[in-house]
Amino acid sequence: MVRLKQTVERPDEDTYERRLERVQEHVAAMSRRRFLAIPGILGSVIGGAFAVFEIELLKGKKFHLRPPGALAEEKFLATCLRCGQCAQACPYNSVRLAAAEEGIAIGTPYIEARRIPCYLCEDLPCIKACPSGSLSKEITDRGNVKMGLAVIVDRQACIALQGLRCEVCYRACPLLGKAIALEFRPHEVTGKHAIFEPVVNFDACVGCGLCEHACILETPAIKVLSLADAKGLMGRHYRIGTKTG
Ligand code: SF4
Ligand code: SF4
Ligand code: SF4
Repeated sequence: MVRLKQTVERPDEDTYERRLERVQEHVAAMSRRRFLAIPGILGSVIGGAFAVFEIELLKGKKFHLRPPGALAEEKFLATCLRCGQCAQACPYNSVRLAAAEEGIAIGTPYIEARRIPCYLCEDLPCIKACPSGSLSKEITDRGNVKMGLAVIVDRQACIALQGLRCEVCYRACPLLGKAIALEFRPHEVTGKHAIFEPVVNFDACVGCGLCEHACILETPAIKVLSLADAKGLMGRHYRIGTKTG
């Protein structure tokens, strides 16, 4: 069952459950279509299982953002002094230093978007404070930051994809209308309603995590993934556009 953040009012129970059921059926049907080459019930079963597996895999992805301007991970780990100056410079306390139990190299800076995202300061003080170049001083424009990419990881839970108006992730984006847009299409299940789907622009998304932080669901339907993970999903979730950062 999809659970909303406690501060947000939940839609009417019956309507909500019925809508969710319809969308789940729709997603399962779409997956089954991929397996039409496999005859009968076997194809349906494999298709349904594939959809569940795919969604669970993405929901469980754990990815900690490095601060803006971070070099590729290997170089970052080799050069970062673990001095914490980027964390000290961050006015929002977005940057934390990893403790032993967090599964990241101890003392290295990271951002947990759901807790405190990167607010993408105009002057990028974290980069300015870094003495080692682990946060590259070549990044002087916040539109050129690339910490990761936002992906709708749970299409069954996303309120907007159920045909309800929810523009929360869209409104939270500091690059509104550039990094994320709302695309209109008719509701394929009801045939009457409209869907305003949040679609991420691969070129413009900087991976700040403000959308993930803002998502009204208890477990966010949109998450920032590593570039490698997100690029594998480009065809299905992104629009490639001119960078306007
Ligand atoms: S850009 Fe600003 S909010 Fe983001 S990590 Fe750097 S200092 Fe913190
Ligand atoms: S300021 Fe630079 S060297 Fe120091 S912890 Fe942050 S990234 Fe590493
Ligand atoms: S991570 Fe989300 S909020 Fe940040 S730029 Fe990308 S789409 Fe916008």
